[in-house]
Amino acid sequence: MLNKINSDVVIIGAGGAGLRAAIEIARSQPDLSIALLSKVYPMRSHTVAAEGGAAGVAKDEDSFDNHFNDTVAGGDWLCDQDAVEYFIHQAPKELTQMEHWGCPWSRTKEGKVAVRPFGGMKVERTWYAADKTGFHMLHTLFQTSLKYPGIKRYDEYYSIDLISENGQCYGVTALDMRTGQIKFFRAKSVIIATGGAGRVFPFTTNGAIKTGDGMAMAYRAGVPLKDMEFVQYHPTGLPGTGILITEGSRGEGGLLVNKNNYRYLQDYNLGPPDPWPRKKAMELGPRDRLSQAFWQEQQKGNTIQTPFGDAVHLDLRHLGEEKINERLPMVRELAINYMGVDPVHEPIPVRPVVHYTMGGIDTDIEAATRLKGLYAAGECACVSINGANRLGSNSLTELLVFGSKAGANAAEFASKTSEQVDEALLENMAKQSADKVAQLFHHQGKETIPGLRNEMNTIMEAGAGIYRTESSLKDAVNQLTQLKSRFADIELTDKSNVYNTDLIQALELGSMIDVARAMAVSALNRQESRGSHQRLDYVERDDKNFLRHTLATFAGDDNPTIDYRDVVITKSQPAERVYGGESK
Ligand SMILES: Cc1cc2nc3c(=O)[nH]c(=O)nc-3n(C[C@H](O)[C@H](O)[C@H](O)COP(=O)(O)OP(=O)(O)OC[C@H]3O[C@@H](n4cnc5c(N)ncnc54)[C@H](O)[C@@H]3O)c2cc1C
Repeated sequence: MLNKINSDVVIIGAGGAGLRAAIEIARSQPDLSIALLSKVYPMRSHTVAAEGGAAGVAKDEDSFDNHFNDTVAGGDWLCDQDAVEYFIHQAPKELTQMEHWGCPWSRTKEGKVAVRPFGGMKVERTWYAADKTGFHMLHTLFQTSLKYPGIKRYDEYYSIDLISENGQCYGVTALDMRTGQIKFFRAKSVIIATGGAGRVFPFTTNGAIKTGDGMAMAYRAGVPLKDMEFVQYHPTGLPGTGILITEGSRGEGGLLVNKNNYRYLQDYNLGPPDPWPRKKAMELGPRDRLSQAFWQEQQKGNTIQTPFGDAVHLDLRHLGEEKINERLPMVRELAINYMGVDPVHEPIPVRPVVHYTMGGIDTDIEAATRLKGLYAAGECACVSINGANRLGSNSLTELLVFGSKAGANAAEFASKTSEQVDEALLENMAKQSADKVAQLFHHQGKETIPGLRNEMNTIMEAGAGIYRTESSLKDAVNQLTQLKSRFADIELTDKSNVYNTDLIQALELGSMIDVARAMAVSALNRQESRGSHQRLDYVERDDKNFLRHTLATFAGDDNPTIDYRDVVITKSQPAERVYGGESK
């Protein structure tokens, strides 16, 4: 008999989205009990690593229309425009709310909230707290959540399977990592806020915990994964580690040069659509285009060789020590500690690195999935405001806007629902979930976790990287299919119950393989180039056939089935993403 823990709402994930959801439930419906599960201590969630900032209209020269248009054009018209409309209007409210909870936004000399430019924006609208924005936001949310007695935390609980029956979700099973015990968290509604899946790729800015668990859980429970072929490369990661050098460094005036010390971006067609007054977008073009320009420079032999592969230089020297220390202290610290390069005196070697998953759990504008009682928000979800390419700094705001929405709706559902479900049946399903883990634990086989994980990473980089082709993707799909069957033959080396990281990594690998297959199969089927999805064999965007969301539905050992859904267009008709050139 499994240990059963009853609450009104279960939230899986205590990063920005999960904490924001928890606060919303606790303050709107204080009587509800909330179980907040996280596989790491909340402050170690990936949100803490965000540097650059959070977008929201702040200046008089800016407007909601600007934010809307930049987001939709940046996303290559694959965003749902009703969701974007809601998002841009909520953004400044949420960011101001954060200030009231104690978030120390950087200020101008006049005492106003300071905003910095980010790629693909017409007017500066990125709120920041030096270059440690995510740290301050997560701290603010975490501290605020402590005020509410209704939120009960379960740190270091690894959630495994959703428990659902007849189209409704009733909870989740989770492993208490301290004891190895599996428990059934029974709830009236469930929110998934488990973050992205960058670890599917070998070279990524994403922390080791970003393994797509929540996506895989929802997918296996019958909720489609949407637009998984869209994976964002960030143009400036440190070679070797993949550590991010924030876009804020280019926002503050950093330059990208190739081995000839030449600002190569002037040769490419880059964003934003309506360029900054009197200058080319250059370093402030959108991320997908900048990463593609790097690839082109590499083909031309213009990149710089480093012991960790090819790179270009990010030059901040002209900003001067004072500005670097004030605005980009973490960039300086990271460059010195991880590259041995002080950006005050030398340019920093950088290269594109996998950063963000635009796709995720299919939700509607209410953060609801097609399973009743199941909601999702944050990077694990696809609502979709990011379309084919997320604009930098929209994500931190998205956590707040849709985290709050998921919280409000899950609370409402939990307080109204009347359940007629066979409790014994649910308990039996939870037990099956636990038995599956026990089988994995005891299985004797010849495959190792690191071995399969490395193979998966290599397959994804080779087959579904910055540029893709039919044959590279077919290879990836076939190899991933084999990998999935080989996964059934893994053997754990650690058989203990206390903090068994071997077991956790096995479960994470299982999630990643499912997510990787959804990415590769979705990419193979999208025969066009749009945003971050670039096909060398279909170089044009094809609105006639592909102005649609991909929906990948789990099909067990087989590849997922693929369907499409029309994009919601309200006021911005698809146009050419024409970039660069002088403005009037
Ligand atoms: C280095 C870096 C810098 C970034 N900078 C910016 C920026 O400047 N601006 C911007 O807008 N965006 C930025 N982003 C993107 C943004 O930070 C993320 O998209 C966002 O923080 C994700 O938040 P989240 O709440 O969805 O998930 P996360 O913060 O990743 O939290 C996920 C939570 O889920 C939990 N979890 C996961 N799986 C399980 C499981 N199986 N069981 C239990 N718990 C689980 C984790 O423990 C964690 O608490 C950056 C990303 C990175 C990697």
